[in-house]
Amino acid sequence: MDAYSISEAGPVGRPAGPTELVRVARFLPATRAEGPGERTAVWVQGCAVRCPGCFNPQLWTFRGGTATAPADLVRQVLAAGTEGLTLLGGEPFDQAAALAEVAAGVRRAGRSVMTFTGYTRDGLRRAVEAGRNDVARLLAETDLLVAGPFRADLVDPTRPWVGSTNQEFVLLNDRFPDLLAGLHGTPDRLEVVVDPAGRVEINGWAELDALDELLAGVELRPARPERG
Ligand code: SF4
Repeated sequence: MDAYSISEAGPVGRPAGPTELVRVARFLPATRAEGPGERTAVWVQGCAVRCPGCFNPQLWTFRGGTATAPADLVRQVLAAGTEGLTLLGGEPFDQAAALAEVAAGVRRAGRSVMTFTGYTRDGLRRAVEAGRNDVARLLAETDLLVAGPFRADLVDPTRPWVGSTNQEFVLLNDRFPDLLAGLHGTPDRLEVVVDPAGRVEINGWAELDALDELLAGVELRPARPERG
């Protein structure tokens, strides 16, 4: 078993507790930076993979996040009215049972599901062969899988949404028939959202130089008091 294979017993470090709840670290109702089309993105809390150079180490711990019932999460995703759901982490397959329920509910409504994982495709296959039904169920409810750990020495400047060249796009059905052929022509997006309170959120992927260049042109001013 390689370092990035999912454990047959489940992720090491996950605290005992109700497995039917999803630990949600972040919910983004709509984005065009986390998969094909406009999608709702859910980052889950907890990751046993722990890639060196990970951009989200705050999501490694299985403590924290908001424990959310799958049915509630499905309602939130469908209310967002986007084309589909993208699951990111954290590590979705470390909460595979609950997320399979979420994915099933989203797909029953005709929306698509894209799942990112730091586990390799082979590691997931071996887990399924070893009897991990939760892993099998989440795979069965995923249309587009992006598999493999982030490798800081293999940064990918050409494909959208992924961090490194070893990460593999896997079409698990015919929901995105043209995706692989058009992948290298699909631009990576960096999405900057400023909400009415002035909070800035950045989604998507960019190399640090590009991010520095972008932020160099941003003038930060103190907020003006509201008129009243
Ligand atoms: S799988 Fe994702 S969240 Fe987990 S360590 Fe790797 S890059 Fe970070």
